[in-house]
Amino acid sequence: MERLKEFRALGLTDKTLKPLIEKGFEKPSPIQALTIPALLNGDKDIIGQAQTGTGKTAAFSLPILEKIEKVTGNIQAIVLAPTRELAVQVAEEMNSLSHGRGLRITPVYGGQSLEFQRKQIKRGTDIVVGTPGRVIDLINRRILKLDAIDYFILDEADEMLNMGFVDDIEEILRATNDNKRMLFFSATMPREILRVAQEHMGEHEVLAVKKRELTTDLTEQIYFEVKERDKFEALCRIIDIESEFYGIVFCRTKNDCNVLVGKLNDRGYDAEGLHGDITQNHRELTLRRFKSKRINLLVATDVAARGIDVNDLTHVINYAIPQDPESYVHRIGRTGRAGKEGTAITFITPSEYRRLLNIQRITKTEIKKEKVPGVRDVIE
Ligand code: ADP
Ligand code: MG
Repeated sequence: MERLKEFRALGLTDKTLKPLIEKGFEKPSPIQALTIPALLNGDKDIIGQAQTGTGKTAAFSLPILEKIEKVTGNIQAIVLAPTRELAVQVAEEMNSLSHGRGLRITPVYGGQSLEFQRKQIKRGTDIVVGTPGRVIDLINRRILKLDAIDYFILDEADEMLNMGFVDDIEEILRATNDNKRMLFFSATMPREILRVAQEHMGEHEVLAVKKRELTTDLTEQIYFEVKERDKFEALCRIIDIESEFYGIVFCRTKNDCNVLVGKLNDRGYDAEGLHGDITQNHRELTLRRFKSKRINLLVATDVAARGIDVNDLTHVINYAIPQDPESYVHRIGRTGRAGKEGTAITFITPSEYRRLLNIQRITKTEIKKEKVPGVRDVIE
């Protein structure tokens, strides 16, 4: 259980942790890390938002399974899901997350015999997972009683609203008590969800996991507008004004790399190239020298630099603007890591401005314009 310590730290105890070993879960996903303690310790209603596939089912199931002590004879929680498949899937996930506990989790959905579902519920059920239509049907037939529930969960809330289930949800809510805790989980957060929450939830909070940022705030991103023939001088100035420069300079082609390494060496800089035409042995040697900081400048193509794991670069320089935004993200992701600040500088020629705008748009970051250091603009 030692390896489940991150789950334990969120407040889960052995009975809930045990099934996680069988499930092979090792650590909580970000949405789980947010919602598990909020549900275990607080008493607010909760809206949880995170991308698809980030473990939202366990994010509400684990704290509920932790809170549910024993079989009471009443239904303690209801989960609403938009489709049969999802209802079955959530019920299965909850079953495996409570394995060995003797809790009874019953999926109810249209298309399956009402009589079968009635028997299952009558036999005793702790948690019902259902689609709205069938749940209403069972409530109207007085088979399903929700007046003692402690938890009301709307899973895939955005889908539910998209599919027009809002009236059904409100009808089901009317069959429940006022003391229950309400949880909405969703991949996206359309205004409609917030409206329904405003209307039906008590004091509530939104716990959201944003999509992973493409670039880090620790990397200052700037660009210089330079003519092709001025690039080399600009690069030398950038290197010279820094008290410490440890960086990768990206070129477009292997030949550009060779030419630039030659010029840098002629000026007395410790630069080496890294690209596909250099033998594997030589590349490894270069990388070792770079990692041990015997050289402080690596001149590389995208392909050769892929997968290089050097953590504390002070600079990434796009001597040529990358072909696409992905490669920009890749390149600059090599600095600003592990809590250290870094600078990413992109050289653009005037005709490349549109490409720069495109990169900014896709990566949703601002790349600030700066003047090449030491170049005084006499016209201004
Ligand atoms: P979502 O509802 O956010 O789309 P799911 O709850 O369906 O995501 O989970 C997706 C998959 O991830 C499931 O197979 C689930 O068992 C698995 N999963 C959830 N949490 C974890 C975790 N902490 N570690 C490993 N796998 C997990
Ligand atoms: Mg889900």
